[in-house]
Amino acid sequence: MRPFQYTKVNDASAAVQAVSANANSQFLAGGTNLIDLMKEDVACPVELVDITRLNLTQISTVAESGNLSIGALAKNSDTANHPVVRQNYPLLTQAILAGASGQIRNMATNGGNLNQRTRCSYFYDTAMPCNKRELGSGCGALEGINRYHAIFGWSEQCVAVYPSDMAIALAALDAIVQVQRADGTQRTIAFADYHRLPENNPEKDNSLNPGELITAIELPTNNFADRSYYLKVRDRSSYAFALVSVAAALEMDGNQIQQARVAMGGVAHKPWRALEAEEFLTGKTATAANFQAAAEAEMRQAKPLEHNQFKVELGKRIIARALMQAMNDGRA
Ligand SMILES: Cc1cc2nc3c(=O)[nH]c(=O)nc-3n(C[C@H](O)[C@H](O)[C@H](O)COP(=O)(O)OP(=O)(O)OC[C@H]3O[C@@H](n4cnc5c(N)ncnc54)[C@H](O)[C@@H]3O)c2cc1C
Ligand code: SF4
Repeated sequence: MRPFQYTKVNDASAAVQAVSANANSQFLAGGTNLIDLMKEDVACPVELVDITRLNLTQISTVAESGNLSIGALAKNSDTANHPVVRQNYPLLTQAILAGASGQIRNMATNGGNLNQRTRCSYFYDTAMPCNKRELGSGCGALEGINRYHAIFGWSEQCVAVYPSDMAIALAALDAIVQVQRADGTQRTIAFADYHRLPENNPEKDNSLNPGELITAIELPTNNFADRSYYLKVRDRSSYAFALVSVAAALEMDGNQIQQARVAMGGVAHKPWRALEAEEFLTGKTATAANFQAAAEAEMRQAKPLEHNQFKVELGKRIIARALMQAMNDGRA
């Protein structure tokens, strides 16, 4: 780990000013990802701006919209266990609790969770080429061991997957990211536009501009609470990232599907909204055959790499299974 300057701030304006003023500085929240990356020399900021004192931990309803606002610095554990989240957004509770461990969730914040970096092993190995770590150096995984890597939306520059569980539920719930800009003004980013596909710039994970701070994540009201489920398949049952995961939510009118939301983790550089599956399901009856057909429709566009063809069949099975669990009231 290299020496760095440590700066503590007490409000959001001071935080964005400090990070904007220094191109090599980064916000420090729970530190559960950033400090690991610094120890491995993958991240080498010259300054850490500690934002843990900012007053951004509230979870409360926005009066005008009825949306639930979740502070960027609320801990993952507190978010998952908040009574309103459990009651109205059980999909989010399930997804958060499927990630990491109790100890890590007690440290990890919501903003940090969104901005955690890929777990591609070549990204962590500074002896290997990696365009995400050093643009132009190549991609070790493209023709290397790519069992964990993407089957949708990858480019020749990067085939990594985005690791967060929480974000897969947020994608299905059409969350909105609230951001404070470097000049102190606010902007919002629709969740679908927050994370990005690698294209020619895999070093950039999301659409934040330098110095921008996530202040909160908003969850619009919905009718999914009784019919949603997060299903994560991994190599072992704890401390493991998803091979493939699915966040499924259904709004029903009798036995007819009014609205379906399906998002996938472990398959792309960003949370992957399974729009083909969603479109197929709208207006259909909630049967195992239709869930299977929706899964087939989505996975038809998959482009597996040498070592991850298994994700295509796995994806089909767990989309169908998550939808069936959602239909059977999969509350946490
Ligand atoms: C052993 C282990 C297992 C794990 N398993 C899982 C898993 O199964 N599923 C899963 O989803 N996650 C898993 N994680 C990842 C964990 O969820 C993340 O490390 C954590 O959510 C990051 O939050 P943090 O507050 O510690 O972020 P930090 O490490 O402090 O920051 C991460 C990044 O976000 C930036 N950042 C932080 N807050 C903000 C903000 N408000 N605005 C803008 N940028 C910000 C930082 O500058 C940094 O670049 C695991 C981690 C470990 C160590
Ligand atoms: S997949 Fe992306 S993160 Fe992994 S080695 Fe290739 S460029 Fe780096």
